Amino acid sequence: MTEKQYGGANGRGSRDKGIQTKNLKTIEKPSEKDKKTIKLEVKSGENKESKLSYQDKILRAGKIASEVREYAKTIIKKQMPLLEIAEKIENKIIELGGKPAFPVNLSIDEIAAHYTPSYDDKTFAHGLLKVDFGVSVDGWCSDQAFSIDLENSEDNKKLIQASKDALEKAIEFISKKIEKREILKTGEIGETIQRTIESQNFLPIINLSGHQIEQNDLHAGLTIPNINNNSTEIILNGLYAIEPFVTLNFASGKVKDGKPSGIYQLINTKFPRMPLARKILEFISKEYQTLPFCSRWIIKKFGTSALFSLKQLEENRNLHQFSQLIESSNSKVAQAEHTIFIEDEKIVVTTR
Ligand code: MN
Ligand code: MN
Repeated sequence: MTEKQYGGANGRGSRDKGIQTKNLKTIEKPSEKDKKTIKLEVKSGENKESKLSYQDKILRAGKIASEVREYAKTIIKKQMPLLEIAEKIENKIIELGGKPAFPVNLSIDEIAAHYTPSYDDKTFAHGLLKVDFGVSVDGWCSDQAFSIDLENSEDNKKLIQASKDALEKAIEFISKKIEKREILKTGEIGETIQRTIESQNFLPIINLSGHQIEQNDLHAGLTIPNINNNSTEIILNGLYAIEPFVTLNFASGKVKDGKPSGIYQLINTKFPRMPLARKILEFISKEYQTLPFCSRWIIKKFGTSALFSLKQLEENRNLHQFSQLIESSNSKVAQAEHTIFIEDEKIVVTTR
C-alpha cells in the first residue's frame, strides 16, 4: 500500500513553505507505444461469471453512482439521521447491482471529509453537508461527491457553487488537453481549480486532493492537486477522481486530523491471535479486499463485540484507521467530485 489516505488528504506542504510533492519528477513526453501500454490491464478477477470488460465495469460503476446521487438528493432532508441517509444510499448502491466502494461519507460544516455514521450515531443532518460515496463493480470504482445547504444560507450556497465551478472548469480543461493530444500536467489541473476558486474570493483546501483509481485501489498512483503545486507529473490513460474542496477566504485553507473515523483499510494480513479477530480479518480480506470499510458494517455482521476485535486488528497493524479531516480554523467546507476515465484521447465523466 503506497497511499494510506482516501478522500484525498496528502498531508504534505503548506501555503507558507511551498508544496512538496512526493514524486516530483520531470516526465518526458510519452511515446505513442508507451501510451498504449499504460496501466489498466485487467487483473484476473474472481468474478468469472461476469463477461464485462474492465471498461464496462468502470462505466457501470459510474452510472450506478450517478443514479444513486439523484436518489440521494431526493431523500436527504434537514434533521434526518445521518445513519438513515448512509444506509439508504448504501442499500440503493447494492439494489442497483454495485457495492459501496467505501462507506458513505456524510461530513458536516468544518468536517471536510471522512465522517461516516457509527452504528449508534445520533447526529442529524444539518448545516453544509458533503455527501461523498462511490461504487465498486468487481473492484473498479467510481467516486463522487456533492454538497447541500440545509440551513438556507447564501454563504453556504456560494461556497457550494464555487466547488462545482472548480470541478467543471477542471474537467473542461482536461477534456481540451486530452482531445488536442497535449501534455497534461497534474499541477495545471490544480492551477485551474485554484484560479476558479480564488476568483470567487474563496480558498481551496491545499492538503486535500483528487487521485488516480485502479482496481481495488481507490488511491493509486497520481495525486490531482487542488492548487498549483508545480507538479509536472503527467496524466495518461486511466481513471481519476477530481475533487475540489473550498473554504472561506479568512480560513486557514488546510485540514488537520480529527477524531478516529471508524473507517478502516486492510494493510496487512498477518494472523492475529484472538479467534474472533481472525474471523473478522478473513471476512474483511474476502469482502472488501483493500477498499475502505467501516465499523458499522462489521458490527452488522458480527455484533458489537467486533469493536474490540477491530481495536486488536488496528494494534496488530492489520488495519489502518482513517481520521476525520477538519478544517484547521473550523471554517465551513464544500466539496464537489466526479470520476473521469481517459483512454485513447477520449475522456468520459463516468459519474455524470
Ligand atoms: Mn475521491
Ligand atoms: Mn470521494
